[in-house]
Amino acid sequence: MTRYDLLLKGGTVIDGQRTPRYTGDVAIAEGRIAQIGNVSESDARRVFDARDLIVAPGVIDLHTHFDSQIFWDPWCTMSGWHGVTSVVIGNCGFGFAPVRPEDRERAMLTLERNEAVRATTMAAGMPWDWVSFPEYLDSIERAPKGVNVLSYMGLAPVMSWVMGLEDAKGRPATAGERREMGALLAEAMDVGACGFSAQIMGEDSVQRDYDGTPMITDIMAPDDLLAFAGVLRERAAASSSC
Ligand SMILES: [Zn+2]
Repeated sequence: MTRYDLLLKGGTVIDGQRTPRYTGDVAIAEGRIAQIGNVSESDARRVFDARDLIVAPGVIDLHTHFDSQIFWDPWCTMSGWHGVTSVVIGNCGFGFAPVRPEDRERAMLTLERNEAVRATTMAAGMPWDWVSFPEYLDSIERAPKGVNVLSYMGLAPVMSWVMGLEDAKGRPATAGERREMGALLAEAMDVGACGFSAQIMGEDSVQRDYDGTPMITDIMAPDDLLAFAGVLRERAAASSSC
């Protein structure tokens, strides 16, 4: 009986622990590394010839904007080609949820300006079968993927959703709006968001909205930011006390 499901034979192992690279075999059983060293081919059900290849842990990229590309490119190229196996999307405060149908084009134009993905490509490649943040994650869940995906909740969509675009760029939120936005963040965290993101670079921000104005989060009120942070603080306190 074979002990391993898969054997990566004869690769150059770079283990990510600052150990100098070495030639070796990596054996995998039940989805986990079970042995590293010199492993006999007869011990594995499947053998992959890894000579002349690097065998290394996957790279986690915490800052990406694959929010749209993930829907038509399971490997998130070029990242996937370069060894990235986990990506975090929803960075810099903008993104695609929650977004009402009438606001989809603007959301795509924002990403087009800042991340050089054509809005026409996005419109053709995204299913847009969501409105809320939980529905967005469900849609990503359904999409075929060659990488692991985790998402922040960008604050610009949330603020625009609750306050309206003009007001979100024009004034601080009211107490009621803060509560509503906080509830949306809490809901996103409940379904798997890894936090919130916001780009805060002021009126002179170099990463501007599609129409040349600052992003919503560039000019958001500090108290609004603190209100969002308070949502996470409460959750941390609740989780550490139980
Ligand atoms: Zn970014």
